[in-house]
Amino acid sequence: MADISFIGLGNMGLALAKAAATAGMDIVVWNRTPDKARPLQDLGVIFAADPAEAILASPVIVVCVYNYDAAHEVLTQEDCASALEGRVLVHLTTATPRTARAMYDWARRRGISYLDGEIIAYPSDIGSDAARILVAGDEKALETSAPTLRAFAPEIEYLGTDPTAASVLNLAILSATLGRTIGTLNAAAICEAANIPLETFYKNIARDAEQDSDALVESLRKIANGGLETAEASVEVWAGISDSMTEFTRDTGYSPEISEFMCGLLDKAIKNGFGNYDVGALVNILRPDR
Ligand code: NAP
Repeated sequence: MADISFIGLGNMGLALAKAAATAGMDIVVWNRTPDKARPLQDLGVIFAADPAEAILASPVIVVCVYNYDAAHEVLTQEDCASALEGRVLVHLTTATPRTARAMYDWARRRGISYLDGEIIAYPSDIGSDAARILVAGDEKALETSAPTLRAFAPEIEYLGTDPTAASVLNLAILSATLGRTIGTLNAAAICEAANIPLETFYKNIARDAEQDSDALVESLRKIANGGLETAEASVEVWAGISDSMTEFTRDTGYSPEISEFMCGLLDKAIKNGFGNYDVGALVNILRPDR
């Protein structure tokens, strides 16, 4: 029997399979388009003719395909589902909380030990210290698959038995990244409108990064522990800043929509009585009982 089987050899699946083979594991792979396995040819990897054959070859099966629908289509074929029974399924396709729950419930019904994992890395990071994987689900699945997962990423963070936890945290992390990215692109447009070189802007945000992140951590701490009533820079102060951004983008003919979106949230917080609060108080207008 091999150590581990892989279903899906796209950019990420291939990187995972390479890392496991390089770490000396016996691996079996299957991909819908067989040609994608070519880069593994010299690593002693076995190519299965179909996904059920790959599943039957190992106690641990790693699935990393495009999305939930693709994984569902492959795994719920009756020969694959029955081959999976009694085995460990590590699902590293990016999930939503809803799809993570659906796959876990299905696995439970079929007697499959299930772990949902979210990869916080690019394929080129896999196997290096830059890679991190969040996992949630059956503890037994984690115990069995941990040595394999560590070949992908030294840092494996287990979030407990709720199978949706990794996908929820992944969404939260991506929300922070996307929010930062969109705010930064608004900044790039503001600089461009006044011919300020982006290197000058970049130098300044690099300098301020540590201070900004300390302030953000402080706001998060206040959300968790209380203390939002006191602020070094209040919601009202930030509302004034976003008004200025809106005015400038409008004046220069650039789209004000990102600045206006920020103004809208801050104004709503002011209307709800949080004008003098820390900017973390914005969370109050996002809650279901707002
Ligand atoms: P990709 O390069 O587009 O590869 C997609 C894989 O899914 C291929 O192996 C493809 O098979 C397979 N596939 C698609 N539809 C299928 C179907 N109906 N039946 C069977 N196989 C099917 O994507 P990727 O970058 O490897 O991403 C895979 C997963 O990792 C995604 O969920 C992604 O969100 C996640 N992820 C990716 C990154 C990244 O930076 N790339 C980072 C973190 C997480 P074929 O080769 O036959 O098309």
